Amino acid sequence: MTIADTTRSGPLAGDAHRIAHADRVIASLGLPSSGVAVADPATGERIAAVPDLDAGDALEAVATAHAAGRSWARTTPRQRADVLHAWYDLLIDHRDDLAHLIVREMGKPLAEAYAEVQYGTDFVRWYAEEAVRPRGDYREAPNGGAQIITRRSPVGLSVLITPWNFPLAMATRKIAPALAAGCAAVVKPAALTPLTTILAVRLAIEAGMPDDLVQVVTTSGASAFSEAVLRDPRVRKVSFTGSTPVGRTLLELASATVLRTSMELGGNAPLIVFDDADLGRAVEGAYAAKMRNVGQSCIGANRIYVQDGIAADFVDALTERLASAPVGSGFADDALVGPVIDDRAAQQMQRYVDDAVTRGATLRTGGHGFDGAGHFYAPTLLDHVPVDCLAATSEIFGPIAAIQRFSTQAEVLERANDTDLGLAGYVFTESLDRAFDVADLLETGIVGINQGVPSNAAAPFGGVKQSGLGREGSAEGLEEYETIRFYNLARRSTT
Ligand code: NAD
Repeated sequence: MTIADTTRSGPLAGDAHRIAHADRVIASLGLPSSGVAVADPATGERIAAVPDLDAGDALEAVATAHAAGRSWARTTPRQRADVLHAWYDLLIDHRDDLAHLIVREMGKPLAEAYAEVQYGTDFVRWYAEEAVRPRGDYREAPNGGAQIITRRSPVGLSVLITPWNFPLAMATRKIAPALAAGCAAVVKPAALTPLTTILAVRLAIEAGMPDDLVQVVTTSGASAFSEAVLRDPRVRKVSFTGSTPVGRTLLELASATVLRTSMELGGNAPLIVFDDADLGRAVEGAYAAKMRNVGQSCIGANRIYVQDGIAADFVDALTERLASAPVGSGFADDALVGPVIDDRAAQQMQRYVDDAVTRGATLRTGGHGFDGAGHFYAPTLLDHVPVDCLAATSEIFGPIAAIQRFSTQAEVLERANDTDLGLAGYVFTESLDRAFDVADLLETGIVGINQGVPSNAAAPFGGVKQSGLGREGSAEGLEEYETIRFYNLARRSTT
């Protein structure tokens, strides 16, 4: 079967009531009529515009947040925790609004949007709980005569830059620990998906956060924004989630004022299925790791390695799972696979498929976009993907499962680690010894063992190698917004 022969049934349309709900939420935001246009990826239609702020506006936001941050840094842990708890409650009260807004601006299916609301708000609850357990300790100088007290202070004004793929969770995973630690923030959401962040921050203000403490800066000029704010000496921290090339640029800029940095960057996750894996579990895990967010996840399974003995059954089962997944608007009743974010992404998927097929990969399902409105790409499985093709070397960031075969554990580890990136990896096996041996040797910050969705609020999320610096979520995520200081108390004996 060639790509041209593939059946092209159209994507499912969205439910009108759900779309109307999302549009009522957008209307309640009171946005301007012109500015940076926000579009629905399922229809291509313009759904809103947000202010297109320039570098001068961004520096005003820095000044405003910086001023508000002075008194926030002096609040008690309980005061900060109370605001975060109240914010959590309000986010949950507005879960329907948030989920519908996420679908409208980002496209993921409604069930996944609800899952993101729970995942994203969990960070707020987690850091409400962490806020009242500030850490510090007491030490003694080895030669006596001095007692050392360590304590944590807020790092200071933090610039938070987020991507479009999890518009709520990537924002709360940064804002909540910043607030818990006592920091003010300037948040720059992705221009493609600013609406959810705007609503979430308004709810934080309604929950009792000082009005000026967190400034949302929407702009079409991302470079001008970072050039201006990261050179401002009032800014003391930048936390970025996005692609590795942009992360490198921000690290260079951060060197000007020696900023603390947290970098959650790109991934190229290997997912390894051994012969002794439970087939059903492996297929479901691989489906989840690949297709969550229509494949647009930094920890998405990018290179799927399957051992020779289980390969035929695994590939058949995953092909069937992908081929039977309905494609459509995230607002369609049973849509399991929504649109990709924009037309460029859909075209990029086609390039990956064409390149792989030209080099000898077998197209088992999908491999095509759809005519008509919106940016859809069919769930795709490529088998026997050559190691040197684009789908094996790039971060696919879309609904293409790229399968390679392997025979030995040593061989697959060599291939899995042959990348500059190291965010997540997955291993499927029923052998506990093998699971831990492989997890220990994978050069990634995150390992999913017999499961495809490893992240939650308690987990220290982050990568090794060029996938980033620092951790988000968990107690470690709070440390990213703290500075350790010590007081040395001299003692002289009175005896
Ligand atoms: P991107 O790097 O293009 O953009 C991310 C954010 O940075 C957006 O807000 C964008 O406007 C902004 N940006 C771009 N250039 C900038 C500049 N010069 N100065 C300041 N801001 C700038 O990434 P994307 O396409 O939005 O997201 C996809 C990428 O993000 C993938 O590589 C994915 O792996 C990565 N990601 C990583 C994680 C993680 O936790 N490690 C999570 C989600 C996404």
